[in-house]
Amino acid sequence: MKAPEIIRPDSYWQKQDEIIGKEALATLQLEHLTKSLRRVYSNVPFYHTRFDEAGLDPENIKSLEDIRRLSFTTSDDLRANYPFGLLAVSKDEVVRVHTSSGTTGRAKAICFSKNDIECSATLIARCLVMTGTGKGDILQNMMTYGLFTGALIMHYGAEKVGALVIPAGPGNTERQIQLMRDFGTTVIHITPSYSLYLASALQQKGIDPRKDLNLRRAYLGAEPYSEETRKKIEAIYGIDVYNSYGLTEMSGPGVAFECGYKNGMHLWEDHFFAEIIDPETGEVLEDGQEGELVLTSLRREAMPLIRYRTRDITKIITGVCECGRTHRRISRILGRSDDMFVVKGVNVFPQQIEQVLMGIKGVAQNYQILLESYDHLTIRVEIAKELFDGNIEHLLQLQTEITDKVRADILVKPKIELLEPGALPVSEGKAKRVIDNRTM
Ligand code: ADP
Ligand code: ZN
Repeated sequence: MKAPEIIRPDSYWQKQDEIIGKEALATLQLEHLTKSLRRVYSNVPFYHTRFDEAGLDPENIKSLEDIRRLSFTTSDDLRANYPFGLLAVSKDEVVRVHTSSGTTGRAKAICFSKNDIECSATLIARCLVMTGTGKGDILQNMMTYGLFTGALIMHYGAEKVGALVIPAGPGNTERQIQLMRDFGTTVIHITPSYSLYLASALQQKGIDPRKDLNLRRAYLGAEPYSEETRKKIEAIYGIDVYNSYGLTEMSGPGVAFECGYKNGMHLWEDHFFAEIIDPETGEVLEDGQEGELVLTSLRREAMPLIRYRTRDITKIITGVCECGRTHRRISRILGRSDDMFVVKGVNVFPQQIEQVLMGIKGVAQNYQILLESYDHLTIRVEIAKELFDGNIEHLLQLQTEITDKVRADILVKPKIELLEPGALPVSEGKAKRVIDNRTM
């Protein structure tokens, strides 16, 4: 196999410590961490109290591990201090506010200074250059524009590298297809669920994305998806799919991103200090162990967050990436700790089910998990149109295959309902995969 090309033009965003030795990176992290801690101690009463309670003096930080003495910042803390309670700059330094998309609970507001916007755009520029996007590319941005960071931050970064950006936003599939054809779109930024829906819309119109479109790559993020889904999307469109991770609390997309080797996402450690913790006990885990990602922003000005619990379950991949970058990688996000559900006493992440479904021939693009009781789960699966040809035998075989494979993976036998393509609702933003109708 030919090694993916590593693109490293001598541009200013590249010099922002992307290629840096391990020790230099640690020194840089400590320098920025100290600055950040001093800033919040002086300007944010919430953190001032936290430091005093922990007996930690920000003038006396000796190592990165010193922050382990501080308790975690949670999304509840953000909500309790909504909207400006955690500001570390004066209000007139704030040039933008974003809120999280509110997948779970009430919205959280994150403020940006001019420099915060510049930093996030620069990080995205780094990600794009790393994966080969630049001048001459036409990037159709199908994420939601507005309060959500996904689209706007990508937009700024893509303009920085000189790509032509089509600010399409999500939905209106007919128009998306038209834009892709008229402008010769080469790159799409899209949620995994919408990319699957778009694929089926293209198929229905008799358009083969591999031949009839000009696409080369896609950046997929904002929600968990499995390796099987990536492979499926790559095959349908004939493109490279790169995993992109970020969250509003850490300035949006561009926190961690896959390089050409597509083997975990490089977490930009010169901007974020990462820890993996046991979500039950809060204990910090070793590299390679799976747990909840906790992030400390090192360079945010307006609203730095210290030891923020992301609720995302992942692990640090041990060993150095073949591309040579020293920034450690995180594995594909398994799910959010609050997405996990329990059925028959077993912990299940929706993504485990998706991984199984997307590897089965005949399964189409959309599915839904229905929870009606604590002992059973039903999975509604859309399957290929051709399978509804009147041959009941084939349908029964597929149903059995799905049941057996899901049971082998999650150890609970599901009830499988097969549906025609288009039967399940499609969401324009993040997909809602689990319908939990259980009452306590
Ligand atoms: P929320 O969805 O919490 O309202 P955001 O819109 O900021 O807020 O979304 C950030 C969240 O989206 C992350 O914490 C993570 O759960 C999810 N996410 C983002 N990118 C990915 C990705 N590549 N894989 C899995 N999950 C992702
Ligand atoms: Zn790499």
